Amino acid sequence: MKDIAIIGTGFSAASFSYFIKKDLDFYEKSRGVGGRCSTRRVDNVGLFDHGLQYIKSQDEEFKKFLEDYCVWKGDFKIFQNNQLIDDLGKERIIHENGNNVLVKNLFKNKNVMLNKELKNLEKKGDNFQLTFKDDTQENYKTVIITTPFQQAYNLTKQFTESFFSKFDYSMQPNLTLMVAFNKSLNLNLSAISFENDDVLGFAANENTKKKDLINKDLELWTIQSSLKYSIKNIYEYRNNKPNLIDEMLNSFSTKLKVDIKKDNIQYSDIHGWLYAYNQKAAATNCYWDKDLRLGICGDWFSGGNAANAFANAKQLAKLI
Ligand SMILES: Cc1cc2nc3c(=O)[nH]c(=O)nc-3n(C[C@H](O)[C@H](O)[C@H](O)COP(=O)(O)OP(=O)(O)OC[C@H]3O[C@@H](n4cnc5c(N)ncnc54)[C@H](O)[C@@H]3O)c2cc1C
Repeated sequence: MKDIAIIGTGFSAASFSYFIKKDLDFYEKSRGVGGRCSTRRVDNVGLFDHGLQYIKSQDEEFKKFLEDYCVWKGDFKIFQNNQLIDDLGKERIIHENGNNVLVKNLFKNKNVMLNKELKNLEKKGDNFQLTFKDDTQENYKTVIITTPFQQAYNLTKQFTESFFSKFDYSMQPNLTLMVAFNKSLNLNLSAISFENDDVLGFAANENTKKKDLINKDLELWTIQSSLKYSIKNIYEYRNNKPNLIDEMLNSFSTKLKVDIKKDNIQYSDIHGWLYAYNQKAAATNCYWDKDLRLGICGDWFSGGNAANAFANAKQLAKLI
């Protein structure tokens, strides 16, 4: 009989493992670790951080846990009331070879099973029986779920319905545009946060982050949509990519007063995150049922960023 199974391989799972200091088995539905701390590698183009952009944390314990990172330096602006103002935010932690490396490093030498989507969780006597999408089964004494809220709830509602009915944990979507230009836009900026904009949320010049871009002749931008635009378009985005790309680039070019010609675009694509972040913090940091031996943690319990994921996993590890 194995002891603890962890579902997911994002920041929460890595943080839980750091604090529990035991050998764990990790099950991940995707073909790689990292979850929403994700980097897309496009051949002959380069790397886009199309999930987590950077980490803001003053917590020295969190930085020690990350081990290998650097600070993103440059010129950061906020677009507010039609003008750019300085964004003197705190230090921004990234990995210069793509942010996914931040998490990948944390899973070195861990027992990770990839392409293993948990489909069903049942209690059989003292143990949990886990059934995966490929119809294989495993048994564990303790199960820890670290997926976004809706997925955690669907897997566990037979045990957790009364607990979760007290809170509003719903997560919001995001559309993330990745675009590579043949010629620089000459904006000389690292990133722009758009405040209260109908279409745009945040834009990052990837060239200002990464040492190891595959094609240094191109300029790569990752542009996130606003919440309003994401909610409007998330369910149909796959069938509507050319229009959405045009709309987001038009908005970007008008606001920042840069000319974007079609022939300057070498590569473009949109990734849709159905469960990107939870903007409301709730009253609790994690879920633990000591009789069942079922635990749940995730950034969404308290906000929606990597620092929340770390803090909430620490809380859960303390309870076990
Ligand atoms: C577009 C975007 C931008 C962001 N920007 C920032 C930022 O700038 N700064 C910041 O701090 N945070 C940011 N975040 C949030 C940050 O990415 C998350 O807080 C953090 O990655 C959460 O980690 P996690 O481990 O809790 O969840 P996740 O990273 O979502 O990990 C959950 C894992 O569970 C897996 N999984 C789900 N269901 C199953 C199943 N049934 N079986 C097996 N595995 C399953 C998933 O594939 C995933 O790997 C951003 C998120 C998005 C989407």
